[in-house]
Amino acid sequence: MTNPYLAGAAGRCPQCGEGHLFEGFLKVSQTCEACGFDLSKADSGDGPAVFVIMIAGFLMAFGTLFSLFAFHWPVWLVLAFWMPMTVVTCLGLLRPMKGLLVAAQFVHKASQAGRHDV
Ligand SMILES: [Zn+2]
Repeated sequence: MTNPYLAGAAGRCPQCGEGHLFEGFLKVSQTCEACGFDLSKADSGDGPAVFVIMIAGFLMAFGTLFSLFAFHWPVWLVLAFWMPMTVVTCLGLLRPMKGLLVAAQFVHKASQAGRHDV
């Protein structure tokens, strides 16, 4: 039994851990190529971006202030270092975070409300 959270964070299907979860950078596949699991119901919406903003925002704000006040970096160096770091960190966190949230939807059997749910 594969751990759905580890599989999701690694960009793999949360059911089998084999097939690719994404077909583009962030677009979730329709079905798993390995086990045929229907991934089209997975919709994490704005969730991943919210967590990325909170995590990256904390890290980058702390790093910026620490560089300024502990190491006395000049402002141009702070900007030249931390602005690209922010972009890289946000882009690097988005895919694992989206995979994690899709896996959480799979584990908790979440899907869009259908006509049988109301
Ligand atoms: Zn699968």
